[in-house]
Amino acid sequence: MFDYLIVGAGYAGSVLAERLARGSGKKVLIIDRRNHIAGNAFDHYDEAGILVHKYGPHIFHTNSADVFNYLSIFTEWRPYEHRVQASVDGQLVPIPINLDTINRLYGLNLSSFELQEWFASVAEPRDRIRTSEDVVVSKVGRELYEKFFRGYTRKQWGLDPSELDSSVIARVPTRTNRDDRYFTDTYQAMPLRGYTRMFENMLDHPNIKIMLKTDYADIEDWVPHRELIYTGPVDEFFSFSYGKLPYRSLAFKHQTFDVPVFQPAPVVNYPNEHPYTRVTEFKYLTGQEHSKTSVVYEHPCDGGDPYYPVPRPENTEIYKKYQVLAEATPDVHFVGRLATYKYYNMDQVVAQALTLYARLSGTQRAEAAKVRMARVKPVATIPAKSGKNGREKSRDWRLGSGD
Ligand SMILES: Cc1cc2nc3c(=O)[nH]c(=O)nc-3n(C[C@H](O)[C@H](O)[C@H](O)COP(=O)(O)OP(=O)(O)OC[C@H]3O[C@@H](n4cnc5c(N)ncnc54)[C@H](O)[C@@H]3O)c2cc1C
Repeated sequence: MFDYLIVGAGYAGSVLAERLARGSGKKVLIIDRRNHIAGNAFDHYDEAGILVHKYGPHIFHTNSADVFNYLSIFTEWRPYEHRVQASVDGQLVPIPINLDTINRLYGLNLSSFELQEWFASVAEPRDRIRTSEDVVVSKVGRELYEKFFRGYTRKQWGLDPSELDSSVIARVPTRTNRDDRYFTDTYQAMPLRGYTRMFENMLDHPNIKIMLKTDYADIEDWVPHRELIYTGPVDEFFSFSYGKLPYRSLAFKHQTFDVPVFQPAPVVNYPNEHPYTRVTEFKYLTGQEHSKTSVVYEHPCDGGDPYYPVPRPENTEIYKKYQVLAEATPDVHFVGRLATYKYYNMDQVVAQALTLYARLSGTQRAEAAKVRMARVKPVATIPAKSGKNGREKSRDWRLGSGD
């Protein structure tokens, strides 16, 4: 008999497994239908020996000291501030739009103060902000909207910004200074040995059993457990009784090039050219040195793995019905982005899982994140030696078939 059956070994499931086992001595079975742990944050060494993120670039950033300190038990960090450039009018310029973006694009020499006036002169005030188009045009005007936002959003969502709720582009983070960092959070860093290694350390506890390539539907009737933590899609749990919740998906095209550097920035966005939205070069993120380099192209599509909930009012209405069912289901806890049909960053899901643990264990939220050990020992079966080309030896989560 397990105290908890946890469906999904991403952030939501793994943080709860760790806390319940290590913090409360509970016996936990965590399952995932994929052939690896770490959910969408999964990273691995590709054929060339380069550490890549299988499901697209994952950049860790948070303002929460609690979340950062909690994860720091399971990983060391590499300081990393993310930078993105956009390919517009034949040149690469910083995004979010800053002083350099405007000066380079228009051949100007504005000061920060003058740029504020410039933005005010191009902005088209709107009485009512209803759509994503309204959000952008009212802030930076139609021309920048066309150059940076319209095409990108159309590719990303398959819809024009005028058809998308204002919450999709809730904020246009324009800067009047030269700060070209993509995020401004207090803590910005990447796990030194990768996300998967961090998850391995998290789940390394005698009370935690892991079953991969295991779908909840295949075992729900025969694994005895007291409570269930479910981090999969909420509509699937209820057999799509109110219909399918729509998601936008991505097809990832990974490629390795026989050159040490492929592009001048970690990520290059293509708002107006190509069918893909952006290209990420992983060595910038990980700091790995290698004579070759690996990149990923992101092609937005419908019908693949569920990545982005589509934020339209009719979908929120469907989700609300599932939420009522979820709240009325005893001994099942719904947590994480698929179970709550909301796009969350990694740190937000960690915080959500820690909050649920506090409730389950009857502790205060601040107490709940305290791990009673200095630092988790490296997993004994996984040698930490560097291999060929700086490749970290790690368990091969690609063993077997599956994705
Ligand atoms: C392309 C992309 C880029 C992102 N970049 C960033 C970033 O830069 N920074 C950031 O902070 N966040 C980023 N995120 C968000 C981040 O991926 C999520 O916050 C995080 O993965 C959520 O964790 P989770 O546990 O809720 O879900 P997931 O990681 O999706 O884990 C859920 C797991 O449950 C499993 N599962 C589902 N149903 C079942 C079932 N029936 N049976 C068994 N297993 C099941 C799935 O296989 C999956 O492994 C990005 C997301 C995407 C899609």
